[in-house]
Formats: sequence, structure tokens, C-alpha cells
Amino acid sequence: MEDKTDVLIVGAGPVALFAIFELGLLNIKCHLVDNLDKPGGQCSELYPEKPIYDIPARVMITGQELTDELMKQAKPFEPIFHLGQQVEKILKKNEKEWLIETSNGKTIIAKCIVIAAGAGSFVPRKPPIEGIENYENKNVFYSIKDKSIFKNKTVLIAGGGDSALDWTNELSNIADVKLIHRRKEFRAAPDSVNKMLELENKNLVTFMLGQLTKIKQGKAKPIEVHFTHDNKINKIEIDYLLPFFGLKMELGPIANWGLNLNQNLIEVDTEKFETSTPSIFSIGDINYYPGKLKLILSGFHEAALMAQACFKYCYPDKKNIFRYTTSSKDLHKKLGIK
Ligand code: FAD
Repeated sequence: MEDKTDVLIVGAGPVALFAIFELGLLNIKCHLVDNLDKPGGQCSELYPEKPIYDIPARVMITGQELTDELMKQAKPFEPIFHLGQQVEKILKKNEKEWLIETSNGKTIIAKCIVIAAGAGSFVPRKPPIEGIENYENKNVFYSIKDKSIFKNKTVLIAGGGDSALDWTNELSNIADVKLIHRRKEFRAAPDSVNKMLELENKNLVTFMLGQLTKIKQGKAKPIEVHFTHDNKINKIEIDYLLPFFGLKMELGPIANWGLNLNQNLIEVDTEKFETSTPSIFSIGDINYYPGKLKLILSGFHEAALMAQACFKYCYPDKKNIFRYTTSSKDLHKKLGIK
């Protein structure tokens, strides 16, 4: 079943979250798609605990606190989030509507598209192993949605960061877990590292030094993985491989949407923040225009002007009357203020 909405927002970073509010004040409903499994974009993914000092009227706020506050501010407008999936294709459905397809096969119809894609999609860093894509989402996973599939299985986790160590500890309760990393020093939180070393001492986790080099079909188990250590090639048969090498950002499918780009950024006008394609807007870090500052507050300004321009596509027969949130009874009703 297709979902239908006024605006589809690509991305759920801080600028997208504020756009829900600005659009909501004008009675414009939205759905958001992000390939992260949580909202907040760079703020939640890259620096949740770091303090930000240049959000107006907040002397200090962390990346995660800002995300939480923006989510609260957006709540009255009941945004629908489709997380853990990427917007892949956009097609013109008719004169007034777009058809949007995500990597999970979800389709959404919207009158306008707002691209708030930051520096692009967060995608997993993959090990440089030829043919690994043939095993992805069957025996190779870069994130875990349902840990029950690993119950009583042999699982090889690769990496030395928080995800690798946390999942090693967690899955050791239900699976035969082996952890592989190129050295016995880890970037993960000391608590997680100590817990893993304790589990290794009790033979509840096997730690191996090495670097993954090859994957092929196994004989006794579904996959055989090769790894090198001290110039020797070792082989292991397992049910699942979980490489946790962190995330990187890439423009991804947006490059194929026929928009005018400037060095991988989207060209917009500074009156409406509309792209070279009418009814497709762009806000936040992904924008290019003379004088653009990649700051959250600039993205908030862009969201406000974009919303005014979206109104004309969503309500072509209505006049948009400018109102302050301090004094408008109508806006108070929308915000649930009694
Ligand atoms: P992002 O936060 O990048 O979010 C974009 C989202 O879109 C991502 O979640 C991505 O997964 C998603 N996405 C992209 N393409 C697709 C697709 N095709 N389908 C689905 N989802 C997609 N700014 C400040 O103002 N003050 C600061 O002090 C500050 N400190 C910073 C510190 C660090 C370490 C970093 C890295 C950045 C800092 N910034 C700061 C910059 C700030 O984080 C960015 O300006 C802000 O995050 C931009 O928000 P955005 O919503 O445009 O994009």
C-alpha cells in the first residue's frame, strides 16, 4: 500500500526535524525517510554527547539533547518516520504529485519533496572483500535489527569500536561468538572492552587477531571466511559475519535525480530554497548557494522559507496568512496549547 502525504523529507537530521515544525504551522503534513535507524543525523550519529554552543538562546546543548528537543517540538504535527531505509528513486506521478521509492520497497506519494540529506546517506564501511555483496542480508549484516536470528549460531564479529564490542558481549549470551580485530587494542568504551576480555577469559568469546580477506560458500556452515595474520592465511566456517567498521557518508542516489549540482551539493535559490526542479526543495548542509554556511542555524532559516514556498504547492487555492506563534490562537490550537 502506498502512503500519501503533502511533503516527503529525505533525511531526518536536525534541519529536517525543524522543517516538520515549520511545515506543520502551515497545515502541511510530512513523512521522513532516513537510512539511519534513529532521527538526528550528524548530531545523533557523530556527536551525541558533544556540546554545541551556537544554537540561538541555548547557551549549551548536546547533539542528542538538540535532537530530543526538536523531536518534542515536531510532535504535535504527527510526522511519520520511515527509518533504516534510503530514498532511492523519485518519479513524477502526475502534474501535482511525486512517487518516492525507498530501498525497503516502500512507496510514498507526495506533493513536494524536501531534500535535507546533509552530507549524504550514512552507509556502512564495508570490508574490502570481493563478492561480499552476494552474502549481504543473508549471512553478512552491517547492523542488527533482530538478534534472535543468531541464536545457537556461530557468529564472527569484525571491528574494534563500540558496535563490535557491544554486540560481541550481547550476542555471547545466545550464540558462539568470535571477535576479530587487527590488534588487541580497541576504540570502544573501556567498560565494554573489559567485559569482552572477561568473557574471553571464561571461554565464552573467542578473540582472534587478523584482517578479513575473502568470503566463499562453506561446507559445514553457510560461509567460509579467510583472514590473514602474521602473513598466514587462516580459514573459518561460520553462520554469520558481522563487520562493524563504522559509517561513512555518501551522496548516493540523489546524484541521479536530475537536479543541478555544484560539487555534489544541490543548487538552490535563496528565496524559496527550491532546486532546479519545481516542487523539489533542498535545505541544510546538502545545499549550495553563494555564502552558504554549514551550520544548524542556517538550515533552520532555510526550512522556514522553504515551508512558505511549499504552501503554494500544497494549497494552491488558499492564501497563506503570516502569523506569530506568540499571538495566533489558530497556531496555539495546532501546537496543543490551551
Ligand atoms: P545531517 O545532520 O547530515 O542529516 C542528514 C540525514 O539525511 C542523515 O541522517 C542521512 O542518513 C540522511 N540521508 C541522506 N541521504 C539520504 C537518502 N537518500 N535516503 C535517506 N536518508 C538520507 N553545526 C553547528 O551549527 N554548530 C556546531 O557546533 C556543530 N558542531 C559539529 C561537530 C561535528 C563533530 C560535526 C560532524 C558537525 C558539526 N556541526 C555543527 C554541523 C552540523 O551537525 C550540521 O550542519 C547539521 O547536522 C546539518 O544538518 P542536516 O539536517 O542538514 O544534515
